[in-house]
Formats: sequence, structure tokens, C-alpha cells
Amino acid sequence: MLLRRLATLLAPPLCVACGCAAGEREPLCGECRRALRWLGSATGVADGVRLWAPVAYDGPARALVRGLKFGGLPRMAATMASQMAANAPPGCLDSGALVPIPLHPARLRKRGYNQAERLAAELAARTGLPVHDCLERSGETATQVGRGRTQRLASIAGRVSVRRGASVPEEVVLVDDVVTTGATLAACASACGGARVRAVAYARTPGR
Ligand SMILES: [Zn+2]
Repeated sequence: MLLRRLATLLAPPLCVACGCAAGEREPLCGECRRALRWLGSATGVADGVRLWAPVAYDGPARALVRGLKFGGLPRMAATMASQMAANAPPGCLDSGALVPIPLHPARLRKRGYNQAERLAAELAARTGLPVHDCLERSGETATQVGRGRTQRLASIAGRVSVRRGASVPEEVVLVDDVVTTGATLAACASACGGARVRAVAYARTPGR
């Protein structure tokens, strides 16, 4: 603890987006926080799944998502979940069970954690909703870049399934850090069978 304080005094934490000094608990500096593009309470539809996300996936939000995913900085999940819980429209995070979008086992081994699961756990602490980690992914880890939408959907759909021995809650709130194409959401919704499914993410591609 003392060492950490000392380290903070000598080298204050830096903003993940621009590299300026940021607060000890804040991954973004004041200026980058102000640059976040808030999307309001309107929900969108991504590949047939109703989706709400507080911010647009650009600028500082991209840096946060990158940090959560690739920087080994899962503490960012707390900041993202706070912004989600504080801004969620009625009916979005007040019922159902939080189901993290599963990460491929190979990616999980490499990263050491599933960022969607971290985010779901932080959301659970703020909303009181339970986390139900009931989905899993298998198969190839082909990148989604450069493939057609139908191909992407088909390639993901066969690879999301309900974990052995797990049950799907009646009301599912899928949780992911960012939604761009919606193909993964659609695959997860389809794996959930007859459950009522909606989704929340920290950031989404604007216009979706
Ligand atoms: Zn900054």
C-alpha cells in the first residue's frame, strides 16, 4: 500500500487515451472524459438483438476498451460499469440475469480473464442483478475482419453454446465491452434458445 502510494507520487497514473496525468482511480483524464460521446437512453438493434450502450465507440472510449481488452488493466471494468449503471434507461438493467459474452478458450488462456465477465461482475455489484456465466465458445478463432456479414454470423453461430450442466435464465441481459457488428450478440441470443434476450455494452458503433 505504502509502496503504491509512493509510486503514485513519483509517477502519477496516466490517461489511457492521451498519456496525460489522470486521477489514481480514473483511467481517463478530465479532458478525455469530457470528449466521450454519450449516446443517451435510446436503445438500438444489432442483428436482431435490442442493445443499449452509453457511449459511442470512438475516441477515448476506444482507448478504454483497448485497455480493458489488451492492456491487462481489468480495473477499467469498474469505470465502465459505473458509467453504464448510472446512465441505463428504465427496463435495461433492473431485471434479468447478466450473461457475459463468452471468450474463446485460447484467448482466455492468453489474456488471463474474460473482459465481458469482469464487466458483468462490476455491473452486478452496482445493479444487484446476478451473473450467469452460462455460455461458452469453441472452434476456430478466425478473425472477423474482412469477412462478409453472413459468413461471420454463420461462423460464430456454430461456436456459441450453453455450457455443459448450465441452464439459461428466462430473462437474459448479454454483457459485452463493445458491439460493432452485432454478429456475436446474434449468435449468443440464438444459443439462449427461447429466453427473452437483450444486450448491454459499454460502447457501440454509432448509428447502430
Ligand atoms: Zn486523456
